[in-house]
Amino acid sequence: MRCDVITLFPEMVTPVLESSMLKRAQEKGLLEVKVHNLRDYTLDKHKVADDLPYGGGAGMVMKAEPILRAVEQIRQPYEQRGEKVRVLLPSPQGRPFTQAYAQELAADSRPMLIVCGHYEGIDERVRIALKPEEVSVGDYVLTGGELPALVIIDAAARLIPGVLGAPESVVEESFSEPLLEYPHYTRPGEVRGITVPEILLSGHHEAIRLWRRKEALRTTYERRPDLLKDRRLTAEDQQLLDDIIREGVRGTPVPCGEEG
Ligand code: SAM
Repeated sequence: MRCDVITLFPEMVTPVLESSMLKRAQEKGLLEVKVHNLRDYTLDKHKVADDLPYGGGAGMVMKAEPILRAVEQIRQPYEQRGEKVRVLLPSPQGRPFTQAYAQELAADSRPMLIVCGHYEGIDERVRIALKPEEVSVGDYVLTGGELPALVIIDAAARLIPGVLGAPESVVEESFSEPLLEYPHYTRPGEVRGITVPEILLSGHHEAIRLWRRKEALRTTYERRPDLLKDRRLTAEDQQLLDDIIREGVRGTPVPCGEEG
């Protein structure tokens, strides 16, 4: 996966890229990320990349020209090789970023170019001229697009085969199918009087698989029942879910109208 990031604050982005799995993915040649300082694409002596908003009001607006210049220059070498660049603009108004979206990016051979906004946002003419894909990482407002850019890169990069040590961890975890994950335990066997569920110590692979499946369904049913709505379940999943509903939600009553 190849990705370019344009930002006014490279120091917010590079330390994360130089840590943990993202660092290893780059070392293995599975991920290539270049971080570009937007100020390098300004033409004035003071390298100004923002200005006051037309019409007045609070905050600064990022100027269009440096961003457009940066995008054009950065994507030029790709385009010369006949490659189309996927331009992403983090924005609270964008398409919600989900696991499916991350999978889509991980499977896309096109290079990504992420433009990080900051302050009050970006001059609207950037959006009009570039027609970028606007991506929202949630219904809240962050100070800039740097954290969203890292979220997008991290979530997509870890889905590239070879980035994670054990490929099955990607298959089993939350949202790989629209289901939350089962709980994990590691040594010691007892922590503050809380013990590991017996079944996990049994060595009985099929029983462990079934327990994990049931706990994944239970967690989803308790915390995100919307993920189960309108979902066609296998006979096994339906049986497990029926058991969960019969047992009640960890001591709390079964939600009205959701029984059976
Ligand atoms: N005034 C803008 C609004 O109300 O939509 C918010 C601007 S925000 C302070 C500055 C930048 O942070 C945005 O241009 C965007 O790049 C990024 N940003 C903030 N929240 C975001 C979110 N939930 N998802 C994606 N990007 C976000």
